[in-house]
Amino acid sequence: MEAMGDRLDEYRRKRDAARTPEPVPAGPPPTGGNDTFVIQQHHARRLHWDLRLERDGVLVSWALPRGVPRDPKRNHLAVHTEDHPLEYADFHGEIPAGEYGGGRMTIFDRGTYATEKWRDREVIVVLSGSRVSGKYVLFQTKGKDWMIHRMDPPEPDWAPMPEEVRPMVATGSTRLPPDDDAWGYELNWDGVRALAYVDTGRVRLADAEGRDRTASYPELHPLGESLAPVACILDGVVVAFDGGKVSRAALERRVEVTDAAAARKLVSRTPVQYLAFDLLWLEGSSTMDLPYEDRRELLTGLDVAGAHWQTPPHFPGGGKFALETSREHGLPGVIAKRLDAPYAEGKRTKKWLRVKR
Ligand code: MN
Repeated sequence: MEAMGDRLDEYRRKRDAARTPEPVPAGPPPTGGNDTFVIQQHHARRLHWDLRLERDGVLVSWALPRGVPRDPKRNHLAVHTEDHPLEYADFHGEIPAGEYGGGRMTIFDRGTYATEKWRDREVIVVLSGSRVSGKYVLFQTKGKDWMIHRMDPPEPDWAPMPEEVRPMVATGSTRLPPDDDAWGYELNWDGVRALAYVDTGRVRLADAEGRDRTASYPELHPLGESLAPVACILDGVVVAFDGGKVSRAALERRVEVTDAAAARKLVSRTPVQYLAFDLLWLEGSSTMDLPYEDRRELLTGLDVAGAHWQTPPHFPGGGKFALETSREHGLPGVIAKRLDAPYAEGKRTKKWLRVKR
């Protein structure tokens, strides 16, 4: 069936049905209910989210580099892209590298929507999805560039991510706590403290004093995309290795360098690892009031595990074992953390003890 001059021409022109798993229908667009939407998370050359609204037999589409805003105070860029076939609302999978839009695509949300206004340069819709709900306006600013703005207040259980959280600090101790069962133990990794602010596929790293250290560690930047779509604040340490051992001296060479170009040159010789040991904020809510044990469990659920980031083990009630392990690894000792302790932001506390081996 020949389909000349319909709204999917641009879509077909960009794709070879023999080379992409995406649907490439030959026929003219069918008609639907004008009420389905999908948001796809697309790990293309740059991560983005594709918002598609079913309209007159096609999916009218925008690419959102920062996703759909949850905060009415922050408008996000929405780049208008070619209309997609209705079948695309079900598509997820791997578009081969080298093809148009090459990369992994997952469905972030699907649902229905109601149209309040549909003009060439302004669209107002009310989305009802499982992750995204509320009234949004899309408006053209220039050419393909549009913006998306949330017209409703934020969802009731959602608050914006804090700009800065100061780390909780351990108190030095000469011995393990006597009530071993009430504590969890982590190795003292002998690195530099770093908080990771992860949102819309990006990460910002700050040191214990709140200074931005993102440029110093280019190999940690993909952490943001690896956790997408999750938004969270992680607490942890940056460590460097030399001959398989944690090395403070190797780390110093990286810490000193704050220039992005200079830092990139050091990555292959002295790569760093980010060891995330705590979770302070997750998806619109602080987790700092939760006991350490519960925060650890949520952290484990995030599966922070990649080439340059890990969640190091912790040992609930195992002080002696942890101390022996730190000795084997040539580390300074352990950090004992009370399992029931909330996160005391910016405070030195006796709920966390730094015990030397
Ligand atoms: Mn895309």
